Amino acid sequence: VTQTVRELSADLCYAGNPLDRLAELRDDAAAIAALAADPTARCLVLVRDQVVLRESAGGLDPWFPVAVARPFGAERAFVLLGRDASGPCFGLLLEDAAAVVHEPADEGAMIDQRRMLLIKDPDLTLLDLRGIAVRKLLGRETVAILSQAKSLLHWHNRHGFCANCGAPTRLCAGGWRRDCEACRAQHFPRTDPVVIMLVTDGDRCLLGRQARFGKGMYSALAGFLEPGETVEDAVRREVREEAGIQVGRVTYLASQPWPFPSSLMIGCLGEALSTQIVLDQTELEDARWFSRAEAESMLAGTHAGGLGAPQPIAIAHHLLRYWVSITAA
Ligand SMILES: [Zn+2]
Repeated sequence: VTQTVRELSADLCYAGNPLDRLAELRDDAAAIAALAADPTARCLVLVRDQVVLRESAGGLDPWFPVAVARPFGAERAFVLLGRDASGPCFGLLLEDAAAVVHEPADEGAMIDQRRMLLIKDPDLTLLDLRGIAVRKLLGRETVAILSQAKSLLHWHNRHGFCANCGAPTRLCAGGWRRDCEACRAQHFPRTDPVVIMLVTDGDRCLLGRQARFGKGMYSALAGFLEPGETVEDAVRREVREEAGIQVGRVTYLASQPWPFPSSLMIGCLGEALSTQIVLDQTELEDARWFSRAEAESMLAGTHAGGLGAPQPIAIAHHLLRYWVSITAA
C-alpha cells in the first residue's frame, strides 16, 4: 500500500505538539505569572536530564500541578510552554542537587540498574525521554511536549553566561530569551538542523552503519547542516563525503524534532547520479546498496542475513518505509 507523506509525518515520534505557544504573552510578565497561578496550570519537571513521573490510574504521568512541582527543589529554569484545552503548561528544570543517584542495596546489582531519585519525593519515577519514547510509556502529544521542554530547558542549562561578553544572563520572555544586562545582547533558544536522506538508485537505496550502531543495523546517512548551506547542499555534501556518491535531485519529505539535545531532523530523498561507493571510514563502518525487497525485510525484522532498520522512533525508519511503499506501488 502506498504511503502518503502525511501518513509518514503522523507517525513521527517527538512531533505532533498540540500546544498554543502563546508567543503574544511572552513579554508580559504579569500575564505569565497569572497563568502560573491558575489552578489548572500544570508542569513538566526535569532534573539531570531525567523526566519526573508519577503513577496514576492510567499509567505514568509527567504532569504535576505547578503548586506541587515548584517545591520539588531549587529551580534552575521555569518556562512557559503554552496552553492546551486543559490549561497553561510549564516546564521546570530543577537544580541537580534535587536528585540523587540511587544505589541498589543489593551489592551484586548491575551498574545499569542504578536510577535517580527525587530527594523530596523518592516514590516518583525518573526516566530519560528516549526510554519513555522507545517503550511507548506516554502518548504521542505528551512526548512531543516533553521534547519541547527538554530542548528548551537544556538550552537554559548551557546558556547561563553571555556568548558576547561573558557576563551572567537572565531568563526572560517566559523562557524564550536570555538577556545580558552587561552588554544588552539578547540570546534566543537554538535548534540545530540535521539533514537525513535516503539516497536511491532506481530500485535500490543507500544505507550505512556507524560502528556505534546496534549489531546489523543500517540507516539513512545524516549530518549537520553547516553555515551557508541550503538543505540540498548539505544532503549532497554529506553523501559525497561519507559514501562518495553524487546526488542530483533532492526532495524534502518531512521533519522531526530530535531533543538530544535540540536538533531538527530534515528528512529527504536524494537521487543518486553515481553508484560506486567510496567509504569515509572515520564516519561509517560500512555503506552499501540495498534492494527494495531487502529493505522491506529489514523493516519487518525478517532479513535473511540478520540486518535491521532503525527503530520507529527515528525518522530514518519512516523514510525507508515510505520509499519501500512508493516503489512497491
Ligand atoms: Zn553580554
